[in-house]
Amino acid sequence: MIIGNSAAGVAAVEAIRRVDSSTTVTLISEEPYTCYARCLISDVVSEGKTVEALSFRRADFYRELRVDFRARDRVVKLDAKGMKVQLASGEEVAYNRLLVATGASALRPEVPGADLSWIYSLRSYEDALAIGEAAGPARRAVVVGRAGAQGGQQAGSRY
Ligand SMILES: Cc1cc2nc3c(=O)[nH]c(=O)nc-3n(C[C@H](O)[C@H](O)[C@H](O)COP(=O)(O)OP(=O)(O)OC[C@H]3O[C@@H](n4cnc5c(N)ncnc54)[C@H](O)[C@@H]3O)c2cc1C
Repeated sequence: MIIGNSAAGVAAVEAIRRVDSSTTVTLISEEPYTCYARCLISDVVSEGKTVEALSFRRADFYRELRVDFRARDRVVKLDAKGMKVQLASGEEVAYNRLLVATGASALRPEVPGADLSWIYSLRSYEDALAIGEAAGPARRAVVVGRAGAQGGQQAGSRY
C-alpha cells in the first residue's frame, strides 16, 4: 500500500512493478485527480492550465500497472500493529507493506492575520484555482516565500 499519489508515490509504483508484476498495489490519495506535476501548478494561475495538462503519466497508467487506485479518500488512522489503515470514508484497508508518500504541506507563518480568508498557500491544484479566482478582482499581491524555482513569481505574474 502506498499513501500519496504524487512524485514519490508514482515513482514507487513503477519501481515495484519493475521487480514484481503480481503483488496487489493499492494507492490511496486524498486528492481527486490522477497524478499531476505540483511544481507546475503556478501555470494554473498564470496560464489557466487544467489539472489534465499538468499530468505526468498517461490516463491509463493505473490500469496498465494494475494499481488499485483510490482517490478522494484520506488516510486518517494508521494501525501499524494491526497492519491496516482507516480512511475518512470509514473503510479499513489492510496491507502487508506500507509506504507513506504524503509529501508536505505549506507552512503558514505564525503571525497575526495569517489565517485571513484572502491569504492563500500554493501547494495543490485547488490552491492554484483559488489564487487564480482571487487574482481577477485583485489589484496588488504580495508573494511570501519561494515556491520551487519560479512558482511564486509566476503565480504573482497575474497581478
Ligand atoms: C509551487 C511549487 C513549485 C515547485 N517547484 C519545484 C521545482 O521547480 N523543482 C523541484 O524539484 N520541486 C519543486 N516543488 C516541490 C515538488 O513539487 C515536491 O518536492 C514534490 O511534489 C514532492 O512529491 P511527494 O510525492 O513527496 O509529495 P507531494 O507532491 O506533496 O504529494 C503527497 C500527496 O499525498 C497526499 N496525501 C497527504 N496526506 C494524505 C493522507 N493522509 N491520505 C491520503 N493522501 C494524502 C497529498 O494530497 C498529495 O497528493 C515545487 C512545489 C510547489 C508547491
